[in-house]
Amino acid sequence: MPKSDEEWKKKLDPKQYHVLREKGTEMPFTGKFLHNREKGTYTCAGCGAELFSSETKFDSGTGWPSFYESKNAKNVELKKDNAYLMSRTEVLCKKCGGHLGHVFDDGPAPTGKRFCMNSCALEFRSGNKSAGSNNSQKSHKYR
Ligand code: FE
Repeated sequence: MPKSDEEWKKKLDPKQYHVLREKGTEMPFTGKFLHNREKGTYTCAGCGAELFSSETKFDSGTGWPSFYESKNAKNVELKKDNAYLMSRTEVLCKKCGGHLGHVFDDGPAPTGKRFCMNSCALEFRSGNKSAGSNNSQKSHKYR
């Protein structure tokens, strides 16, 4: 069932709420996952859906964690976004509707895509384990 704004405010910290629910953008070079090179899975900080694998993460030089492919196309929704006089494609979590970032066409092979993500919209689970529905267990924090 969709959560109300009040429920989201209880679940998320203010920065996560701003990005996920108000389509904010974190400052470049500030995100906790920018330099993370551990193997594992990036999940939605809102609902735990599996979004990206460490195997598709690359250093884009933009200051935001970047991936050339989503882990499961069924878990992300792409939407035209013409805010701020730019024509961009917004990336949302399909399960909870949270704003994750944008996707651009200047990424590396094999896809040519660059999923430009906000660290605070993501959580990280190290290792190759697949997701349970264990949202109560907090992923470990990087700072
Ligand atoms: Fe989500």
